Amino acid sequence: MIFKKKCPICSSKKRIIVWNNKIRSGNANGLKSKFTRLNEKIFQCLNCNLVYLEKFRSGLLDNSIFRKEFDGEASVKKYYQFNKPREINKIKFIKKFISFKNKKVFESNCGAAVILDHLKPFTKLTAGLDHEVYSNHVKKKHLFFSSKKDLNESKLNFDIILSLGEIEHQFNVINFLSFLKSKLSKKGIIVFRIPNYDNIYKYMIGVDFFKFDYRISHNYYFNEKSLNYLFKKCKLKIVKKIGIQEYSTNHLLTYAETGKRVKKIYKFLTKNRDLFIKKNIEKNMLSTSFIYIVKN
Ligand SMILES: [Zn+2]
Repeated sequence: MIFKKKCPICSSKKRIIVWNNKIRSGNANGLKSKFTRLNEKIFQCLNCNLVYLEKFRSGLLDNSIFRKEFDGEASVKKYYQFNKPREINKIKFIKKFISFKNKKVFESNCGAAVILDHLKPFTKLTAGLDHEVYSNHVKKKHLFFSSKKDLNESKLNFDIILSLGEIEHQFNVINFLSFLKSKLSKKGIIVFRIPNYDNIYKYMIGVDFFKFDYRISHNYYFNEKSLNYLFKKCKLKIVKKIGIQEYSTNHLLTYAETGKRVKKIYKFLTKNRDLFIKKNIEKNMLSTSFIYIVKN
């Protein structure tokens, strides 16, 4: 565990406390939250706008530990149960913006390779990196690496690198981006999916949103400004940024009504109105996440 005394991206010591309370420490049974015993401080950097935990826990980087804490168990079966529909939706959304045809594709943090399985028919090569527990499963259809070292030794590079819902967990995000950058082919791109700190839930629901959203596994909470800063610092050019709202507008309104994590979604809006509002949220970059496409 490391205590951050300055911004982990720009090193500025100018910061404000945005949270000093308990945060989520796990999610063992779906929606039943666990919380830290002690208060945790969360800061916002006044220079680059990054929001970050005071305490970075290095142990959580190991996916088998992380997924055990947050999904209950690290296994292929659990991965499917928790992630499959979500992952498929994500990749379908991304496919609207980039073509995978004949490309060499690498997914960092690939889990049980739901996305790689989906992409395989269109691509030239598929490879994934994750914890060894997924190795036997992923290796049936794709190249698999259980460490950055193994991947480095392979000397492979890729046209498209996917890193979805991952950078916010990193211990040292700048080193991590340099690693991904070094795996790009000449005209290669990296596609990130990153939670957006400045999202509509924050503005509408505030503290009732944050008390369930802040968690020990997210060291970083990014917004547009801090991401611009981060990518510039890592010498990555932003090709495209897209808002992606991962929940329905009825989910948002149910949360607004109850002030609690949503278990049963009330139907305030018809399907068409719900979708219309969702698109507006995405267009205005107030969505729960962003897709960033970057290149060297
Ligand atoms: Zn900063």
